[in-house]
Amino acid sequence: MNIKGYTKKQATNLLYSGGLKVYTTQDSKIQNILDEEYADPSNYPDTVQYELDYALTVTDPNGNQLSYREGMLQLYFQNEDPDFDLLFDSPEDGQTYVDKYKASILANGSKVLAERVNFAPQPQSSMSVIDQHTGYVKALIGGRGEKTASLTLNRATDTTRQPGSTFKIVSTYAPALNEKGMTLATTFEDEPYEYPDGSPVNNATRSYNGTTTIRTAIQNSINVVAVKCLEKVTPELGLKYLDNFGFTTLAHGTEADKDANGNVWSDANLATALGGITRGVTNVELCASYAAIANNGNYIKPIYYTKILDHNGNVLIENTAAERSVIKESTAFLLTSAMEDVVKQGTGTACQLDNMPVAGKTGTTEAYNDLWFVGYTPYYTCAVWSGYDNNEKLPDYARNFHKALWKKVMTRIHEGLPSKEFEKPASVEKLSVCEETGLLPRAGCPVITEYFDVGTMPTEYCDQHFYDSDDYDYNYDTDSSDQTDNTTDTDNSENSDNGDTDNSGDSNNTDDNGNSGDDGTDNTGGSDDNGDGNEDDSSYQVDYY
Ligand SMILES: [Zn+2]
Repeated sequence: MNIKGYTKKQATNLLYSGGLKVYTTQDSKIQNILDEEYADPSNYPDTVQYELDYALTVTDPNGNQLSYREGMLQLYFQNEDPDFDLLFDSPEDGQTYVDKYKASILANGSKVLAERVNFAPQPQSSMSVIDQHTGYVKALIGGRGEKTASLTLNRATDTTRQPGSTFKIVSTYAPALNEKGMTLATTFEDEPYEYPDGSPVNNATRSYNGTTTIRTAIQNSINVVAVKCLEKVTPELGLKYLDNFGFTTLAHGTEADKDANGNVWSDANLATALGGITRGVTNVELCASYAAIANNGNYIKPIYYTKILDHNGNVLIENTAAERSVIKESTAFLLTSAMEDVVKQGTGTACQLDNMPVAGKTGTTEAYNDLWFVGYTPYYTCAVWSGYDNNEKLPDYARNFHKALWKKVMTRIHEGLPSKEFEKPASVEKLSVCEETGLLPRAGCPVITEYFDVGTMPTEYCDQHFYDSDDYDYNYDTDSSDQTDNTTDTDNSENSDNGDTDNSGDSNNTDDNGNSGDDGTDNTGGSDDNGDGNEDDSSYQVDYY
């Protein structure tokens, strides 16, 4: 990298010592809200465990330099206790193992050159907040627990984790509505179903609901419908949409996706409908993809700073938002409308805000390794993740705290902001259709009203319920005024937020165990002069001296 005559090293040196002025996009008021909530122990499960992050470098008696990590410590103790892991009830408890292990290494006269011991509280969490209208990253938090070093691992920007059902929207329903002629009223049979390799597609509830609209499938996060839908969309097109939504950690079956065993991975397959992908995604990229939906379908790469000046005031780097359309405005509104139902009466009811409408989607991997909620208001998009750094399963008592955190943070962010609704574009209209076929209703049809892109409104009449009606209507052209105006919301009593993805199939799990204990806000520093948190206040100045 060489920007305006500076190498990366020179630029980094300048950044930390050379009097550069960095205009970050961080909003200190919002960042403080995240910092405060993440520092509050009452926002986490009562049971806290501590995961060891350990690095030791020694010089042995022959003068060789040797390095040891926590994984080797784990193997050392697994000789005696096969169940030994790196999670401890207290840092003190963990330290006794570190001391024993270190003593065993130093027994031959080796001398310590460097040592790092850190215990990160578990389960962990990360959060990002983006202003979808500008792409500005307003706040980030890379974990709970004390920050131990800057420029170390940040769970919001560096760690990749499986996205679970949050991916249904961006990999499957977005392309289905945007260019495959499907609508929120399009129905699929929710029934026992298998992947091409014969493994079952499991619903979280282990039950099936028969004929199901895409709207209801989004609301209740129904896996069978998502997989069937991606089959129609095709996994290749789904992957193309994910690329357009800005994900940079996907596998495309190229040389770069070859693992140590020579297997070449690709995310162009059906498990991607449920977020079962090769390497996972970062929190901030998932947040940015939903921000694109919130921004009428226009993606903006997350922006952390707007410009960097040197000590003479020369502009070294200027960062401008480049928008690209990923989905139509109408598609964005339809997805938003369905995701409002997720929050009103689906799997995300814990994330309702009293002071603003919310659209969003839950995500849970099948073994409860990763829990997500990504949602947005007319103002901001926020993604929250929780899980263990070592990818352990989250226990029952730890499966909802991330949603409570999302609600607390977003409630505070929106305090005092004028209430707004999500705006319906002119390209979307409301229409009554048959609930089971998604076509224009006849007498005898169960009728719902639904939003449609004006280009994909049904033009044919339902032929399924024609003979069902007792008072058979011989007039084919049923007057639309007959249509009952039911609300679109089907009754869904099952709002349980069970783990809703099935990562069966071929996704690897994440590879990000290890580092820990960094709240890692990249945009640290600086104070907000007028502290009013308005959008116009987004670029405030931080001086690094
Ligand atoms: Zn019908």
